[in-house]
Amino acid sequence: MLAERMKGLNPYIPGEQPKDRNYIKLNANENPYPPAPEVCEAIRNFIKEHPEKLGLYPDPDSYELHCQIAKMLNDCGGVLCRSSVKDGRCMPSQQDKIPFEVTPEMIYVGNGSDEVLSFVFYAFFDSDRPVITPTFSYSFYPVYCGFYDIPIKKIELKPDWSLDTEKMIEEAVKTDSGMIFANPNAPTGIALTREQVRQMLKKAPADKAFVVDEAYVDFGGESCIPLLAEFKNLIVVRTFSKSLCGAGLRSGYLVANPEVIQAITTVKNSLNHFPIDAITQIASAAACKASGYYAEKAMAIARERDSFSEFLKAHGWNVLPSKTNFVFAQKPEVDGQYAYKKIKQDGILVRIFSTPGIENYLRISIGTAEQMAALKKSMESL
Ligand SMILES: *Cc1c(COP(=O)(O)O)cnc(C)c1O
Repeated sequence: MLAERMKGLNPYIPGEQPKDRNYIKLNANENPYPPAPEVCEAIRNFIKEHPEKLGLYPDPDSYELHCQIAKMLNDCGGVLCRSSVKDGRCMPSQQDKIPFEVTPEMIYVGNGSDEVLSFVFYAFFDSDRPVITPTFSYSFYPVYCGFYDIPIKKIELKPDWSLDTEKMIEEAVKTDSGMIFANPNAPTGIALTREQVRQMLKKAPADKAFVVDEAYVDFGGESCIPLLAEFKNLIVVRTFSKSLCGAGLRSGYLVANPEVIQAITTVKNSLNHFPIDAITQIASAAACKASGYYAEKAMAIARERDSFSEFLKAHGWNVLPSKTNFVFAQKPEVDGQYAYKKIKQDGILVRIFSTPGIENYLRISIGTAEQMAALKKSMESL
């Protein structure tokens, strides 16, 4: 009964979501804080005041949400944890200020950035040449390559776990290909500067998609949105799931030049006309308006991350320098599975990978101060 193409599928394995016990969940890089009160208020009001709208199709183009995302990006410069907050509103730091106005026509919102990424693969990567990506990056990229029958070329990381930008460019030029990577990268947490990405873009094939996944940039990286003025092939992918406390909402977006947005909209309209439901549109727009709240949470998480990294180092762990809401760490001579199980026994879930080369590393999402105190207690004896 199964179609032939099913044989090629190799699905993504998410972090476990157990139902048997109330674990402290530090395994999926979710935000430990609830959404801003304004978000819950907007959902309640919507249902109370417009119940009839649940019976009608939502705006297929999420136009109001596009406007609010553009406004948030212009306000905070695309990096929440460095913006300054006054009366609940964000102002960009000098480093992050976007030198042009991001317009709603530069935004596309989908059902989580996973869906947005899938449309990007469909629209811009062909099966006649590989997509260039690092050996260790978001593990959904190879899954989409399998799904759409696109070859993939993985480039080894450097010994310090940073991206080998020269090798990536060399390969892209050689095969006249596009590329995708997360910046900051996952699961390493290491970030390239905007200038480093700019140098890559200057050498990369100008007519092939160059995709930067900024799922974690709000916690301390540098956004590549300012580079959109210079490079028409750049596509920046972002999500509400991490810094905007909205993993359950399923809302993700891309920022790119309008031609890119039009292509992705064509893909959407060929598959599912209404990927963002009415409640998610309302809730996501309310989140954008409350960016000051999320900026403060991102700052708290960044502080907690830095102090947790210091704690781990003091206890003999190797910790990669993270600009995200997680750390990637390993203790010499401690088996990864052993560490993972010991921590789980203490009621805390962290992420472990079976991929050769990183099987002894733990990827630990940063939680609240209380959650991290419990984790420190558990890890002290490792
Ligand atoms: C979490 C994550 C995503 C997926 O985000 P959703 O919007 O929840 O689908 C995409 N890319 C990277 C690198 C991530 O870590």
